[in-house]
Amino acid sequence: MTVPPSVPSVPPPLTLAGRRIALLDRARIYACGITPYDVTHLGHAATFVWVDTLGRVLRALGVEPIVCRNVTDVDDVLVEAARRSGSRYDDLAAFQEFQFEGDMAALNVRAPDYEPRAHRYVEPVIRLAQALLDADAAYERAGSVYFRGEGVARSVGLDTETALRLAAEYGGRPDDPAKEHPLDAAVWQASEEGYPAWDSPWAPGRPGWHAECVAMALSVFGIGVDFHAGGADLRYPHHAYHAAMAEKFTGTAPYARAWFRVGKVTVDGAKMAKSAGNLVMLDPLLAAHPAAVVRLMILDRPWARDWDYTPDLLAPAAERLDKLHTAAGRGIRSPEEDLAQIRRLLAEDLDVPAALDAAIALGGGAARLLVTTLGLA
Ligand SMILES: [Zn+2]
Repeated sequence: MTVPPSVPSVPPPLTLAGRRIALLDRARIYACGITPYDVTHLGHAATFVWVDTLGRVLRALGVEPIVCRNVTDVDDVLVEAARRSGSRYDDLAAFQEFQFEGDMAALNVRAPDYEPRAHRYVEPVIRLAQALLDADAAYERAGSVYFRGEGVARSVGLDTETALRLAAEYGGRPDDPAKEHPLDAAVWQASEEGYPAWDSPWAPGRPGWHAECVAMALSVFGIGVDFHAGGADLRYPHHAYHAAMAEKFTGTAPYARAWFRVGKVTVDGAKMAKSAGNLVMLDPLLAAHPAAVVRLMILDRPWARDWDYTPDLLAPAAERLDKLHTAAGRGIRSPEEDLAQIRRLLAEDLDVPAALDAAIALGGGAARLLVTTLGLA
């Protein structure tokens, strides 16, 4: 009897939101990290658990993820929060960052390969500002450097009115009288009383938020990334300006091959916010429930879709996890096609609900593969 020659199979390509992302052996993932002042609520947790899962799925498909997750430790929101609490902004940032890393470890989120902190990237931001000035993509006024942002909203399909509202909401100061256009964005912001300042060729000042992320992403990864990840609320202005500045700087577009914006978590239909007093913090959740249950509650849904948190979601998540673990305990070795089915379902837009159904039904090695790939061990 002759044994048929084995045919090497190519793992399925990843599809995100209906788009195929062809990859070779590595994938660069840049995730907009935290501004360390009110971490860690369930919204942060959902974003970073999904980014971690994207990396794990890529690895299961034979692609090594290289993850960079920054820390925005120079930020007006952070400085203002520190002022309210009577602490130094860098002390507050260091403390919150420590808490955040503990929460991520508890949720079985792998540490990123790179974790740049904005305060170490002031010099690259100054170089970025100078290059944007040289390209006439930015101009200097009163010691600040502004990126010409009039066309950015249009490029992501937003009307001016919405763009102005979002710019104001996210600290973009559209009413700054020094700007030529209200949608221009500070690459370098001249110093004001009470804010940290560094020397620059223009005036002592601090980097703008979008420019910080551009400097960190390009310093770590070069001209672009395969995946740029973050919460859905970062679409505009942050991600849109990030891409626009990076593309002007490198002359290469698109900056990101794919965007991985994770759906937002609401509570009773409302956005989670400190000001609304409805933050669901991770600490008490993890004190009352196993981390794997919280993780599965986050993952057992479409990654890009907004969802509403209620405590009622935890019991069904615990039940589902139990079924998966029971299935994984069935000591059978799964045939290659069972494993391939799990990989194929995850490769299809990270379809965790379908992969869970299949793994629970198939059991054995297929369920064990899913336990590992979803970080639920
Ligand atoms: Zn960012």
